[in-house]
Amino acid sequence: MSRGSSRTLALLVCVAWLLSACSRPQEYNEKIYVFGTIVEVTLWDVSEQKAQQSFRELNKRFQQMHHDWHAWEKGPLTELNQAIAEGRSLKVDPSLIPLLEKSKEACERSGCLFNPAIGHLIDEWGFHSSERPVGPIPSRDKIASLVKQNPTMLDVELKDGVVSSTNSAVAIDFGGIAKGYAVGLGLQWLREAGVQNAIINAGGGLGVIGSHGDRPWRVGIRHPQGQGVLASLEVRDGEQVHTSGNYERFREEQGVRYSHIIDPRTGWPVEGVTSATVIEPDGSIADAAATAMVVAGVKEWHQVAKRMGIRYVMLVDENGTVYMNPRMAERVQFSSDSPKPQVVLSAEL
Ligand code: AMP
Ligand code: MG
Repeated sequence: MSRGSSRTLALLVCVAWLLSACSRPQEYNEKIYVFGTIVEVTLWDVSEQKAQQSFRELNKRFQQMHHDWHAWEKGPLTELNQAIAEGRSLKVDPSLIPLLEKSKEACERSGCLFNPAIGHLIDEWGFHSSERPVGPIPSRDKIASLVKQNPTMLDVELKDGVVSSTNSAVAIDFGGIAKGYAVGLGLQWLREAGVQNAIINAGGGLGVIGSHGDRPWRVGIRHPQGQGVLASLEVRDGEQVHTSGNYERFREEQGVRYSHIIDPRTGWPVEGVTSATVIEPDGSIADAAATAMVVAGVKEWHQVAKRMGIRYVMLVDENGTVYMNPRMAERVQFSSDSPKPQVVLSAEL
């Protein structure tokens, strides 16, 4: 081969390589600060322009949801809670309706262990604040009197966009369900916009569409006692994975740690379970069920999961023992970085 033709060949190889690099699927990441946390969005196999446009649109939509559903910053939800406290019905902002419906459904399905109507209790424990609560915990009498009024989502009625409550002690707090619902809406919007492969990770909860090229999306479940990853699992198209834990938000008083997840039956923060993970396609139900599993605890989780129709559950107790149903165990891969925990397999759900 002459020197000229070998140069041409080298040039052609170079151009071919550049072209294939340009058309090779690429991953785009963005962090959105919203819902009091960092929401990470990853898109696979889209153009740079599509990715940037999607991030902007998701950011705008999530910020609007954050405003509409906030439990203590003035907005449509605080307006509704005010009306309920005053015994009035209210024509609400349409963005509240699906979440109210989902909250009623999740309350019903969990025997109201998931009960977003206990906003006054959550506030009394100091968790209606972006800061960690300090100072003395509420008095037993105060908690007992709030529990006695028995506010539940079943007291809330919706008709033609008008919301009323038969119990003025109801104060709605979407903290245990909103992220799952938001992730679901975000993914639905991405699909409609032509994005086929994405993951939206909102801290304790995430959802995926499609896959990461020829492999499924793979995610880690945070170790509830300390740093690092406890386990990982593959997430299938359309699934959400939610983890609730008392390590996420808590307060401390005289060496005792009080979780932000409240048992509506006692009015006290839950004890015993450090985290619960649920896999489920419906984001709001996944989010609500993870919270409900923490409340249900080691003794009741199986029965509550069954009643809720949840197919995959993993619980970690204070001693680090892991409780799972066999179907979940098949999907979970424990990290080799930390010692393999003791696992208790339940009957199938
Ligand atoms: P999550 O991280 O999804 O478990 O949600 C925890 C948040 O849900 C808390 O910060 C409260 O705002 C709210 N919450 C606490 N206890 C309950 C409960 N039993 N039912 C419904 N929501 C709750
Ligand atoms: Mg939740």
